[in-house]
Amino acid sequence: MTRTIIPYEIIYEAADVQDDLIARVLPEHEQQVLKSFLKNLKSALSDILEAAREGKPILGYHFAFPAEIFYCFDLAPVCFELLPYMYSAFFRDGAEYFYERINAWGHPYHSCTSQKGMMAMIQEGLIDLDVICTPTGPCDNTVASYQFFSNYKKKKTPLIVADLPVYQNDRAKEYYAEELKSLLEQVGKIIGQEPDYGRLKTAVKNNREAHEYLIEINQLKRTIPCPLESLSNSIITSATVFLPGRPEKVQFLKEVYEVTKKRVQNNESRPGFEKHRSVWPYLSLFFDLSFYEWMDREIGMTQVIDPFNIYFYEPIYSNDVDEILTQIAVQSQNYPMVRQGSTFIETLIDDSLWAAREFKADCAIFTAHYACKQIVSAIQILKEAFRDELGIPMLTIELDCGDKRFTSIQSIKEQVSEFARTLL
Ligand code: SF4
Repeated sequence: MTRTIIPYEIIYEAADVQDDLIARVLPEHEQQVLKSFLKNLKSALSDILEAAREGKPILGYHFAFPAEIFYCFDLAPVCFELLPYMYSAFFRDGAEYFYERINAWGHPYHSCTSQKGMMAMIQEGLIDLDVICTPTGPCDNTVASYQFFSNYKKKKTPLIVADLPVYQNDRAKEYYAEELKSLLEQVGKIIGQEPDYGRLKTAVKNNREAHEYLIEINQLKRTIPCPLESLSNSIITSATVFLPGRPEKVQFLKEVYEVTKKRVQNNESRPGFEKHRSVWPYLSLFFDLSFYEWMDREIGMTQVIDPFNIYFYEPIYSNDVDEILTQIAVQSQNYPMVRQGSTFIETLIDDSLWAAREFKADCAIFTAHYACKQIVSAIQILKEAFRDELGIPMLTIELDCGDKRFTSIQSIKEQVSEFARTLL
């Protein structure tokens, strides 16, 4: 029986239109990262949509999950948090309709827009779900939202929760690997399939190759001026979240690597335009991607890196299934945002200072995303750490990364402009 994932169909159409427009309007050498992403996004989406049309089970998962593990089944995976933010990036009014709908229903307005939008999509019955998976991190918003996703319909959708340890030691690693194994067994029972570990190994190999390209890209991004435009961070974030374990992720990062290398070799990296290099310790904003072009061109400030563009874990080289699952558990604990947001705050501080040093940043911009209550408490300590350890200032902008109405783009631009004027 044909199944539907209507938001993926809409995103596919939007990506197709944008791809066509860009091909007609922009010169060949412009926005090469975006062009490559749209091409690979469409390929992955059409594959997943085809699986749904063929009646394969649909599995909803949290963005912070190591989603490659789901490729040991024959199903259509859907990343929940990605959907509202893809709407934010593609459409003028983003996912506002869905935010309004769920607020009117009585859901707390100050929760995470990445999940709030998805709640309303589920209320409207836009996805035929068979099973949902989430870890118990990185935040309370996650834990609460997934109960809703599971329970909203009269016929509940099975929810499998992997208990994510707060500590990061050998005991926690073994424990979480067992959680992932158990999760796969439960998913298998629900959808009536045995896990195919050969498929898992292929997905892990894809992730490894993609990771190796990202390491090379980040090595090149240390060059001054930065060879990649600021927008590339948000785009690579989308690939990290949306394409884990897929050949499209390898292809995309390979193409980005080739573009970056060529620009460095030929000194095509906007020489003379880069006045400042900013590190963003937590989230980028998604509701107006033209902001990054403005920052590059008008302010001369590059967003060099954010945590979604550095993987603080090793690629997996093992061929043994138990060892692979243990290593995936380690990766999952250190996944972007999970690593910085769900354990003690010194990890966020250490990672941010390391990134600023490595990527030669002269300033930092912290986006205080409205829903991230746990991380907002770290702002002052982080600011002092940047100042005392590296002598660089940090700007804090209160906003909602997925909703333009919380802090307008004009106000954000004014804050960044004013901040840039204070930099030497
Ligand atoms: S950590 Fe923040 S951005 Fe991430 S899911 Fe939770 S509230 Fe949303």
